[in-house]
Amino acid sequence: MDTIGPMGRPEAWSELEGIYADLERELSTLRPLCRQSSKCCRFKEYGHQLWTTSAELDYLVEHEGLPVASGSESGTCPYLKDGLCGVRDHRMLGCRIYFCDPAYASAMAPLYEKYHARIKELHRRHGLSYEYAEFLTAVDRRLGAQS
Ligand code: SF4
Repeated sequence: MDTIGPMGRPEAWSELEGIYADLERELSTLRPLCRQSSKCCRFKEYGHQLWTTSAELDYLVEHEGLPVASGSESGTCPYLKDGLCGVRDHRMLGCRIYFCDPAYASAMAPLYEKYHARIKELHRRHGLSYEYAEFLTAVDRRLGAQS
């Protein structure tokens, strides 16, 4: 299996963008509420974790670069800027699907499963190494690899 190289994978990325677009369409009918509290990006404070796949992290880093510092100590996403996502167009499935709206809670897990399965399949079809990892740990690993 290949890993994604520095030149990127335009076909894989365009398929990933299609998956994200399908999700947006589904979300537009479910209409979960976002109060822009940024709770979902302050992992430690709110006691949750963000997990992501290797291709999604490659897609994010290729388009936005690695953050200047790790978020592990603060437990906050290093891409959070002034209370808003600084990498909105290239954020991962977990970021796109999570809403703290209680009316949406029961819809979230099946939706996540469905789209995560499509992204996993994308790895297979494009011959990409599949890894599913906690986001801050995965970012730290990449920061460590470049130093
Ligand atoms: S990538 Fe954006 S939406 Fe996702 S946790 Fe970080 S700041 Fe929040």
